[in-house]
Amino acid sequence: MGKAAKKSKVNKGSRSKAGSSHVRPAKALGQNFLIDEGVIDAIVEGSDITEETLVIEIGPGEGALTDRLAESAGRVVAVELDERLVKLLRVKFFSAENVEIIHGDILEVNLPEIIESNLKEYGLSEVRIVGNLPYYITTPIIMTLLEANTGAKSITAMMQKEVGDRLLAEPGSKLSGAITYAVHYRADVCKVVEAGSECFYPAPKVDSVVLRMDLLDEPAVKVDDEDFYFKTIKAGFIQRRKTLLNSLTTLEGFEKASIEKALNAAGIETNRRAESLTMQEFADLAGALKKELANERL
Ligand code: SAM
Repeated sequence: MGKAAKKSKVNKGSRSKAGSSHVRPAKALGQNFLIDEGVIDAIVEGSDITEETLVIEIGPGEGALTDRLAESAGRVVAVELDERLVKLLRVKFFSAENVEIIHGDILEVNLPEIIESNLKEYGLSEVRIVGNLPYYITTPIIMTLLEANTGAKSITAMMQKEVGDRLLAEPGSKLSGAITYAVHYRADVCKVVEAGSECFYPAPKVDSVVLRMDLLDEPAVKVDDEDFYFKTIKAGFIQRRKTLLNSLTTLEGFEKASIEKALNAAGIETNRRAESLTMQEFADLAGALKKELANERL
């Protein structure tokens, strides 16, 4: 990544008063507001934002991060689901010319359209997505952002540390899971900063980490059928303790005999587990499985 990202755990930054929130935090909406200036600075610095950047912010909350993003970016478009916060934010940023608050669900709004119209109207050259994510939908948000055609250069996201560890893991290492492969297929991932629960109000029960995902121009490996590639990975991880020969039987239309043939054709020992496969090995395996299926149908 461009600027050196901070990797140290930050939890001693100057704090705004916890009691200064104007809205009673709604647990169901994952509302844990950032109150640590050090972490907010690290997110903004780690996102490589310039005045040429259109920032899409996910879940601005009371605007602690929005404020700082707007100081560095050409424009910030923030999508917030909670109507109470939308009202508060529209007052707070009433005279900020480069901030727009959209009332909506980040999983539902038409991001490509929002991005295209803002880039055109304000003559900005790049898009970066930033957010302290609502943790109850971390994975759907990341998957939606990676798969939507946003043209974003990067996604900088705060998430619970356990999820961050999976995303940071190398595919083929012990910590990897199906999401590791999905993210590394489309992005390079690095850690920006860690944040203890005391960096938020109210304090969540888990520690957090900010990761930056730099979107790749081309996927990390070449596959003929993306859908089937990810189906194979998911099936492999359904019961991660099982060998691939057993776990892949959950793939529709596959018997053990054809899975064994495909594993052999891809040069993968039948007793290996999903977490030990590299991205390329999964690509070879998915290709071999599809060939087996085609052969059986002849
Ligand atoms: N950015 C603020 C901060 O750091 O203080 C708030 C972060 S808080 C962890 C997550 C925010 O996402 C909340 O404001 C919540 O209302 C909002 N949110 C929850 N679900 C959402 C959704 N589906 N779409 C958009 N925003 C959502």
